[in-house]
Amino acid sequence: MEKYSIKMRASRNLGDQSIHISGAEKIVSRQQVNAYADALVERGLNHSKGNADLLNLKIEKIDEADILYLDAPSVTTVKTGSAKEGRKEIIRFLKDLQINRINEVMDFLSETYAMRGAMLLDIRTMKRMEPDFMRGIRATYMDQERPDDGEASVNIVNNKKNHYEEAIVLATKVMNCPGIIGEICISDDPDYVTGYVASKMHGYRRITKIKEPGSDNGGRIFLFDHELASATEAIEFLQKRRVIVRGIKKMDHHSIHEARIHSSEEQEYDNQPDRWERVRKTVESLHEDHLYRTMHTITSAQGPHITVDGRELVLMASNSYLNLTAHPYVKQKCHEVIEQYGFGSGGSRLTTGNTDLHEKLEKKIARFKGCEEAIVFNTGYVANLAVISALMKQEDVIFSDELNHASIIDGCRLSKAKCIIYKHNDMEDLEMKIREHPQATGLVVSDAVFSMDGDILNLPQFIRICQKYHLFSMIDEAHSTGVIGKTGHGIVEYFGGDLKPDIQMGTLSKSIGGEGGYVAGTKLLINYLRNTARGFIFSTSLSPVTIAADLAGIELIEREIERVERLRHNIQFFINALAKYGIKAASDTAIIPIVVGDEKKAMELSEYLYDHGVYISAIRYPTVKKGEARLRVALMSEHTPEELEKAAKLIGEYTNLSFSL
Ligand code: PMP
Repeated sequence: MEKYSIKMRASRNLGDQSIHISGAEKIVSRQQVNAYADALVERGLNHSKGNADLLNLKIEKIDEADILYLDAPSVTTVKTGSAKEGRKEIIRFLKDLQINRINEVMDFLSETYAMRGAMLLDIRTMKRMEPDFMRGIRATYMDQERPDDGEASVNIVNNKKNHYEEAIVLATKVMNCPGIIGEICISDDPDYVTGYVASKMHGYRRITKIKEPGSDNGGRIFLFDHELASATEAIEFLQKRRVIVRGIKKMDHHSIHEARIHSSEEQEYDNQPDRWERVRKTVESLHEDHLYRTMHTITSAQGPHITVDGRELVLMASNSYLNLTAHPYVKQKCHEVIEQYGFGSGGSRLTTGNTDLHEKLEKKIARFKGCEEAIVFNTGYVANLAVISALMKQEDVIFSDELNHASIIDGCRLSKAKCIIYKHNDMEDLEMKIREHPQATGLVVSDAVFSMDGDILNLPQFIRICQKYHLFSMIDEAHSTGVIGKTGHGIVEYFGGDLKPDIQMGTLSKSIGGEGGYVAGTKLLINYLRNTARGFIFSTSLSPVTIAADLAGIELIEREIERVERLRHNIQFFINALAKYGIKAASDTAIIPIVVGDEKKAMELSEYLYDHGVYISAIRYPTVKKGEARLRVALMSEHTPEELEKAAKLIGEYTNLSFSL
């Protein structure tokens, strides 16, 4: 079927200048030509901008085979309250298109105001690609699909320009043009403040207020990328290609409403910095400061020997001090329990996660610690958080050793109580600080064995001070249980058994060889915690299988006291071996720190040992202070003299060669 392009341009002469009044084009069937030509002539001659002196009407037959049919894009409306908001919406559009030089694009907008056509802007080079900067580029030969109903549909034209539909036709042609990734359009009609942005990604996005009313500052920019097509190709398409757009929908009011909500909320945050920036910078500076952490992959049970990244190594870094994690009795108990109970516990202790095994374990811990009762938490970390935050309130004061474990520090923070840090294991400083807060209610808290230094709290003095000032006393026995005290019962036993802190917190994850944390104390304390400790109430309880391992671990410590003795022997043996290589170290516990100082050197030493078959972790900031990086040797009861000798020799040789400790 034949098609005709009808183009109308109306202008007025003002002196020697020709002022554009109106322009329009249609692609119609032969039967429609007359009616549409009439309608367009009428429109050109009767325009609100004034009467035309000159009207050009061009009717041209076009080859049907040349017509490119394009589907209309989706349409959304962004309701903007001001021209400023409208500009922000354009910026957002440019950001979405990943255009880097957004400010420059925005600056180019004002250059379009004096142009007759559109600007073709190369977004990579910021160069204008139109052959004539004043004329710009005019997209022509386009229309929307209309029913071939003779003259009937001409009524739709109704002599009035339909901004919305004509704009969609133009935008559709432009967004499908080779090399063009998007378009910004502001009308130069002073009464028409709605503009649009369009791209294949966004569809056609109306922006209800893009300029101030009364302003004839309008123009359009075609955002062009020379890597996708040549400018000649793009211009040829825009000016010559015959395009008919199908399926233009009426404005959808739902999308107007939604876009309004989105836009006003989102715009408030438009100037927010890139949310990943801080994350990226932190990771980069961790690398620069030699503080970036990576993990080794272990494919064997935790023991004096492990397989790490496919290699067999001597392990001298584990908290499994008594080698109970893979003890046959522990495994057997776990097998039995998994058969009967399965794995997951299915709920928190106060709902469906409380089994007879959980209760049995708590009784066992209470007995082991010589207390009335005990309560089990999912980890030692959670235990510290939960207990301290349940007991301490904003009006209280917590006195905390400067080397206390991170979980104690986090518990103090969570409680919102005032936190006073006293010098490491310095009871005089502690007392002085307490006196600076007369009448304070609160808590004194300390590691029993310090996790990175391996030294032991001065418990007698600690308890005396707490009692004198009527403060709660709390100790963290993560590294003392199973290690110190004649039979490995921890710090209370170590100091004779009479002096008991109010709160004995500990973990089941270290010498006991399982997982979990606990608090032992009076019945009153434990009942209080069961009812108020959020880490207990709001978390699914440990698996019965884990509980079985914990129970078996405690049983083994009680039954096989020689383990604790073997560990103690190994500690002394290793310290003596180090001394032979000129390295001074001291400890009464399984933790033997070898302080290197410099983070990089500590890492290098650890890597050297790793390369020579010994796994000892380098501990760095923030686990220890900056400049106090160290090897943290953690011994086990089952290390052999040969293994200990080998490690001491490697440490000695390397440090004597590379740096003196
Ligand atoms: N307290 C101390 C002193 C610790 O060393 C640790 C573990 N590193 C914890 C508490 C936390 O125990 P868990 O690993 O069971 O969470």
